[in-house]
Amino acid sequence: MNRCTLTITMLGLCLSQAVQGRGGTMSEKNASSPAGVTRAEFGKTAEGTPVELYTLSNAGGMTAKIMTYGATVTQLIVRDRAGKTGDVILGFDNLAGYLANEPYLGAIVGRYGNRIAKGKFTLKGATYTLATNDGPNHLHGGLKGFDKKVWKAEPMSTPDGPALKLTYVSKDGEEGYPGNLTSTVVYTVTGKNELKIEYTAKTDKATPINITNHAYFNLAGPGSGDVLGHEVTMAADRYTPVDATLIPTGEIASVKGTAMDFTKPATIGSRIAQVKGGYDHNYVLNMEVSKAPVFAVRVREPKSGRVMEVLTTEPGVQFYTGNFLDGSLKGIGGAYKKHYGFCLETQHFPDSPNQPRFPSSILEPGKTFHSVTVYRFSVEK
Ligand code: BGC
Repeated sequence: MNRCTLTITMLGLCLSQAVQGRGGTMSEKNASSPAGVTRAEFGKTAEGTPVELYTLSNAGGMTAKIMTYGATVTQLIVRDRAGKTGDVILGFDNLAGYLANEPYLGAIVGRYGNRIAKGKFTLKGATYTLATNDGPNHLHGGLKGFDKKVWKAEPMSTPDGPALKLTYVSKDGEEGYPGNLTSTVVYTVTGKNELKIEYTAKTDKATPINITNHAYFNLAGPGSGDVLGHEVTMAADRYTPVDATLIPTGEIASVKGTAMDFTKPATIGSRIAQVKGGYDHNYVLNMEVSKAPVFAVRVREPKSGRVMEVLTTEPGVQFYTGNFLDGSLKGIGGAYKKHYGFCLETQHFPDSPNQPRFPSSILEPGKTFHSVTVYRFSVEK
C-alpha cells in the first residue's frame, strides 16, 4: 500500500494512492478535494453502485477514513502516548468485509438506531409495522437500514477542519417508516483531535428518528485483544433496565451499588461477569438536553495512554461491549472475538416510540432534527 504523507496530502499533491484489499486495487484521486481530504474508489455494491472512500486528516496525526456505504467510519487513526499512530476502531480495509453480514462496524444506524419492541409503534392514530430482525424486535432500522445504503458525499473545508457531508433520502414507507426523510451526517476531523459528528434530518410526515454511529472502539489498537482493561467513567447516575429481549422495561433505575455504575472510573472487566450477557444498556445521561455537546463518557486505555472523551447533545448512550462478537469476523488486526471492541452509541432511549415516559424521538414535519456527538482523543503521560 502506498501512503502519501500528511504534508503532501495537505498540499493537495496526493494524486494517486493504491489501496489493495479483497475488493481489488483502487486508485485515489485528490484533484479537487479541499485540504485534508482525499477520495478513493472503494469497489461496488452487489447492485453495482460505486462506493467511495474519503480520508480526512488533521495536522496532529489524526485520520478518519469514511466510506459512502453506510456513511461508515472504516478507520480512525490517532496517536498514542509515544506519538505512534494506530487505528482505534474495528473495521475492514475492503468493501467485501462490509457487504457480508456484519454487526454495523463504524456505520450510521437508522432510521431508528437500537430496538423497537415487536417492530410496531402507533403514531397519530396509525399503527406501523417494521421488520423484526432481532428475535421478536426491530433493530437498527430493519433489513436494509441506513448502514446498508450508499450515501451522497460532499467533502468540505470548515474552520474546524476537513469535513465530509453525507446525505441520504429515505422514502416514505421504506422499512415501514412514515415520511420522506432527508438525513445528513457531517463528519469533521477537528484541529483538537476530535471526530465531530453532526446529524440533521427533515421529514414530510411525523416519524421516529434515532440516528447514531455504531463504531466499535479499541483504544489499544489493532490486534490488541479485548477491551476489558479499558477504564470507563460516565456522567450517568441512571440507566434503563431491559427484559430478556433487550427492550427497556420502562423503569429508569439508579446505577448506585450495582455493576452498572461507572460514575467513578472502573475497568470494563472489573464487574462485567455480574452483568448477564455483558454490557448492552442505555445509560441516561445526567445533563439536561442541550444544544451544545456536553461531557458524557471518558475512556482511558492504560497501555497506549490513549484517552477518548465522548460529548453529546443526546439524552442517552448505549454502552455495548461487543458481546456478540464471536471471532468469525476477520478485520484489520485479525479476528474480532467477544469483547474485542466497545460501542458508545449516543441516542434517544431504545423503544422510545412505545415508551411515553422516555424523551420523544418523533420528528414532525417543518422541524429539523439536530444532534451532535464529539469523540475527542488525547493521551495521558
Ligand atoms: C445493540 C446490540 C447489538 C449490536 C450489534 C448494539 O447497538 O445494543 O444488542 O448486538 O448493536 O447489532
